[in-house]
Amino acid sequence: MTDPTATAAFVGAFWDEHIVPTITDYIRIPNKSPAYDANWEANGHMEAALQLALAWLRAHPVAGMQVEVGRLPGRTPLILLDVPAVGGVEGTVLMYGHLDKQPEMTGWREDLGPWKPKYEDGKLYGRGGADDGYALFASVCSLLALAEQGVARSRIVVMIEFCEESGSPDLPAYVDHFKDVIGTPDLVVCLDSGAGNFEQMWSTTSLRGILGGTLDVNVLTQGVHSGDASGVVASSFRIARNLLSRLEDPDTGRILPEALWAEIPEDRRRQAARAGETLGAAVHQRFPWAGEMQPTSEDPTECVLNRTWRPALSITGIDGVPSTSDAGSVLRPHTKLKLSLRLPPTVSGEAAGEVLTALFRDDIPYNAQVIGDFSDVAGGWNAPPLAPWLEQTLDEASITYYGKPCLHMGEGGSIPFMGMLNAKFPDAQFVVTGVLGPNSNAHGPNEFLHVPYAKKLTCCITDVLAGHATRRG
Ligand SMILES: [Zn+2]
Repeated sequence: MTDPTATAAFVGAFWDEHIVPTITDYIRIPNKSPAYDANWEANGHMEAALQLALAWLRAHPVAGMQVEVGRLPGRTPLILLDVPAVGGVEGTVLMYGHLDKQPEMTGWREDLGPWKPKYEDGKLYGRGGADDGYALFASVCSLLALAEQGVARSRIVVMIEFCEESGSPDLPAYVDHFKDVIGTPDLVVCLDSGAGNFEQMWSTTSLRGILGGTLDVNVLTQGVHSGDASGVVASSFRIARNLLSRLEDPDTGRILPEALWAEIPEDRRRQAARAGETLGAAVHQRFPWAGEMQPTSEDPTECVLNRTWRPALSITGIDGVPSTSDAGSVLRPHTKLKLSLRLPPTVSGEAAGEVLTALFRDDIPYNAQVIGDFSDVAGGWNAPPLAPWLEQTLDEASITYYGKPCLHMGEGGSIPFMGMLNAKFPDAQFVVTGVLGPNSNAHGPNEFLHVPYAKKLTCCITDVLAGHATRRG
């Protein structure tokens, strides 16, 4: 096994000297995921991020490491590291991360910005450092920490994609393309997830699915004087509101169609109760509430289950509506809503899309022209049960480096490819974890990478790789 003192010393120094400066440079590169930068190829930011990673890998090689860059035509690239086993250990660990980013988003603190790194009180601010720029560098750091101590481990494959924030459309093709290199991993380590707090290790046991779509309610072919038409022509907003009440209870937000709900497994309920007990009110206090606004439930465990195992609707965009400062006295011709429906881990996104299509098809008020498109789906994922050796290793590692046990909780967001990887490698164990703790705000303004937390997580992953070599049955 590893010597925790030596691991912590190596990892801490390596992060300070070789990872923080590189992620600082990485934050400066606006390599938005293809869904947010249609001209990504011509703009060259993705290539710049790729070259930064490759230069870093040349400077920090692991013995025997092969670096491959996949460049399938018409697709984003992919970095694949193939690192031979040490000490004749069998098996393969697949480690995953991504080097594409969410778009800028507004609301950044005045002295911060998405492409403007700032390191302050252990937090490295800027887009993409925590989600998920650190993963490649932290993975290599773990391998170097093991090498320094001469600890045996299995073969490691590190896979870094460039289109995760677009839903990983290119990843399946690369998993096929590199199937001989990847082999059949018995452990998958994904470093792109959340943490309930910055005080212990968190393993993600499930992810919600997501169904994206648009609901476009058309009442006129062009806008008209609202004094003239209102009372005769129904408001497209009111009709949209009425239709939405078929999907969710406007008082409670409860999603109404039973087909969009799932039975919550008993072990997940138990883990949610333990997480709720540990986190208490922090489950909801971490959100930037306006005024006296209250959460949907005061019960922390209910909050955990609401955000991980129950469906919920957000309206994330509206077309056909001017800003309040530009709004004239017009009865608008249409209202188009962007719907984002989070789904329980085990509910099929495609089936949910059919439910919504049917829901908004018939008995439309005033026979308004309603166009629904609910085809943008990403499946959820419920992890296979943890093998005893892995559960024990996670717990011991968390106690060693954080002083507290590892907790297990679902995440409310999606990592679209997890279900795909799980389907491809049904016998593999999964460690899905990350540094996206309270207020780290991936996708929003003021995203930060909590460096002290990330260092300890790197130590924990180092121990997981060592444990994988010696403890597996
Ligand atoms: Zn991510």
